[in-house]
Amino acid sequence: MNYSSFNEFALSKKVLSAISEMGFEEPTPIQKQAIPLVLNDMDVIGHAQTGTGKTAAFGIPIVEKIVQNTYEIQALILTPTRELAMQVAEEIAKIGSLRKIKVLPIYGGQPIDRQIRSLRSGVHVVIGTPGRLLDHIRRRTLNLENVKFLVLDEADEMLDMGFIEDIELIIDKVPSKRQALFFSATMPLAIQRLAQKYLRNPKLVAISRENLTVPLIQQYYYEIIHYPKVDALCRILDYENYESVILFCRTKRGVDELVASLQMRGYFAEGLHGDMTQAQRDKTMRSFRLGETELLVATDVAARGLDIERVSHVINYDIPQDPESYVHRIGRTGRAGREGKALTLISPKEYRQLRMIERLIKSQIDKVPLPSFQDVVLQQSENIKNSVSSIINEGGLENYKTIAQQLLQDYDDENIVAAAIKYAFSQKGIELIEEDSAQEIVNTGAKSGMVRLFFTLGRQQSIRPTDLIKAVSEETGINPRSIGNISIYDKFTFLEVPEEVAYRVIHIMDRGNINGKRVSVQLARAK
Ligand code: ADP
Ligand code: MG
Repeated sequence: MNYSSFNEFALSKKVLSAISEMGFEEPTPIQKQAIPLVLNDMDVIGHAQTGTGKTAAFGIPIVEKIVQNTYEIQALILTPTRELAMQVAEEIAKIGSLRKIKVLPIYGGQPIDRQIRSLRSGVHVVIGTPGRLLDHIRRRTLNLENVKFLVLDEADEMLDMGFIEDIELIIDKVPSKRQALFFSATMPLAIQRLAQKYLRNPKLVAISRENLTVPLIQQYYYEIIHYPKVDALCRILDYENYESVILFCRTKRGVDELVASLQMRGYFAEGLHGDMTQAQRDKTMRSFRLGETELLVATDVAARGLDIERVSHVINYDIPQDPESYVHRIGRTGRAGREGKALTLISPKEYRQLRMIERLIKSQIDKVPLPSFQDVVLQQSENIKNSVSSIINEGGLENYKTIAQQLLQDYDDENIVAAAIKYAFSQKGIELIEEDSAQEIVNTGAKSGMVRLFFTLGRQQSIRPTDLIKAVSEETGINPRSIGNISIYDKFTFLEVPEEVAYRVIHIMDRGNINGKRVSVQLARAK
């Protein structure tokens, strides 16, 4: 049977309305296959990449089958992390909202007394991390005698985190007459073994690897050579039109360092990793979900399985060691059919890893050049123009028109608009420089029409004329041929540019980088 609508499953009205309330229009491929099997009491192994709706694939049929008027734990769901436990709990609570299904996430870091009290009050579904579940089992505060559904969610991740023994201990506490479901983004041998041991005639539901990457995710990489990586990242962030971004680092320390660098530069960034307290993690996640934090910097483990709306970009600040993590990482964007962008920063040494990823996802990731400062300005000009147009089209400007009229009494319209635009640019930390201020340039010792600039880099920094021409023209957008005489000395360099772009070059290059080295740039003094 080919199910194209939720209505075709044997589901009650209450569950169907809850699903439609959630905005789900049709079942995803894994849901089409798994829901009828679970409704028919089968054990199931579900294998599909992240973002394919595995939670509802088990959540919907389980909620349907729970007996509402007996307040016993009927379903036990194991998840690798606290965030996932909360997320899964939230989704199942929504599916079960009209059936009044009581759902409780339990995880480490939360006061155990409170969990014990909630458990006593009677719940139907418990979602927990293995460690905390075992803790409750040992304290005899978790009664699993009536469990009819056992789910391992993100099973591969739990095994990676070394939970295998804990998982087996927990499974042994669940009645043997139960329905068991294993869901995972990958199917390593260890999971197949676990399935053989604990599942009865399981049905395998696999969404094939050909669909591994979602076509709605655009994937690109940048090769970062001459730039300090953080500066390259900031350039990318300034250029991209993002809503929320998850950035991945390889280590917890890397996360902390990147967060500090980004915050120092004025970005709204917060970190997420395993060394943080639960309270810190909750705070970060709340602020990220609300959009107050725009950049979430995380390690693989901390971010695995997180489902956050509006993640427009995933940036691999560090390329993942393991190609599979690439798929997990980029699955954080382009969720449920939205568009997303996945950007990866690599050094020349990391091409090998990039090729391994391309082989796994069976497609090529295109290289794009790092945007220049000039590109950022152009892009932001477009963004500002578009925003202004759409604000005008939306209307509702009456209250603002009063202010406009007040300004119009004293200034002409073009000046007012230009000032407002300048203000919009300054909110993005960008200043457009006045080209004609070059007229004030005094004699810098260059021939007429040209201006001699002083760069604090020279032979000792192994700087070559081609490096300078490349850096200056790429960064500022000026024609490389328009660059005049270049004289390189031990510790500094003179370089001539046309008068009309002199200030632009100073403005953009000063306190910037050339070949990874800090440089300051100023007008030269005539000899
Ligand atoms: P997975 O566990 O496979 O990584 P999730 O269960 O976290 O994926 O689901 C990813 C997102 O897709 C969630 O926001 C979920 O609410 C949404 N989703 C799930 N099923 C559907 C559906 N049938 N239609 C629309 N959105 C869905
Ligand atoms: Mg999941």
